[in-house]
Amino acid sequence: MINILFTGNDASWDEYEPHLQAAFASLPFDVHLSRDIPADQVDYIVFGGEAPITDFAPFTRAKLVQRLWAGVEDIVGNETLTIPLARMVGGGLDQGMIEWVTGHVLRHHLGMDDHINGQDGVWRNDVTPPLAQHRPVTILGLGALGQACGQALAQLGFPVTGWSRSQKSVEGLTCVSGPDGFETALSSAQILILLLPKTPATENTLDENAIAKLPKGAVVINPGRGGLIDDQALLAALDQGQLSHATLDTFRVEPLPPEDPFWAHPKVTVTPHIASATRADLAAEVVAENIARGEAGKPFQHLVDRSAGY
Ligand code: NAP
Repeated sequence: MINILFTGNDASWDEYEPHLQAAFASLPFDVHLSRDIPADQVDYIVFGGEAPITDFAPFTRAKLVQRLWAGVEDIVGNETLTIPLARMVGGGLDQGMIEWVTGHVLRHHLGMDDHINGQDGVWRNDVTPPLAQHRPVTILGLGALGQACGQALAQLGFPVTGWSRSQKSVEGLTCVSGPDGFETALSSAQILILLLPKTPATENTLDENAIAKLPKGAVVINPGRGGLIDDQALLAALDQGQLSHATLDTFRVEPLPPEDPFWAHPKVTVTPHIASATRADLAAEVVAENIARGEAGKPFQHLVDRSAGY
């Protein structure tokens, strides 16, 4: 019997439990899934929702902590967590992020707001948007989500540049890395998308200097993490016209407090961290696959690199 501990609140248990049970039913061994298993008898930890575990030391026989989200910044530095940590890749996150990013890129590319807000009887047909092929887009972060979004945008015709820590080669994209690549990535970006993880190295990636390297009037779209952007520098650049709009899904403090200036700023769109959520039915398959691998002695998928922080 393999004991699988689910950590999470009542809502996430209700959402995930039937899908996990269904996915585990196809495994070639018996599984006991519960939110209440003595720590020293747990084989795998499925880490969902607001997880209460802060001390992993008592889980002496556990083989893996499987996060149900993509981000791991709140757990990766936990010194009691010495067993492998896997994060969610797939599980609907990629498709959801493609849809959210593409929608917001097209909103700005097509100038949709002018028509949605301007239903006043005036026939404004004097502005033809450029074709996608004349609208360079840059994605900071070329991981699972950055690559998926970049390829979707490239298929629509946008010239897409992607920036990552290590040099990548992705069909249809111009891939750059390192400090020189950062300059290149920013200098052409009429629309900039942030899909980096939050780590000490990515804190304030988009600061005053970086914003100054963007073409005047660029749009920033941030479904990554709030800490990637220097908020004051962003607001100043919007007020000065260096940036024309920021669409923000993630924030340093969430929920974003009602008094935060982002809510009322005319050039900011706030969405409440809904760019892409893990889908329980698809995520359950990913979890089951990793547990099957663990029991078969195969390497786990989607492991987090603790030293890099993501
Ligand atoms: P991932 O596969 O780990 O990709 C991260 C990318 O960032 C990689 O290309 C990595 O470079 C690059 N990177 C990391 N540190 C860097 C640095 N210092 N300089 C340059 N590039 C760096 O992550 P993912 O699955 O694509 O997810 C990305 C982030 O999206 C998550 O961490 C999370 O914060 C966010 N997210 C948000 C939502 C939402 O609803 N808003 C949903 C899901 C995820 P290498 O390729 O060289 O490693």
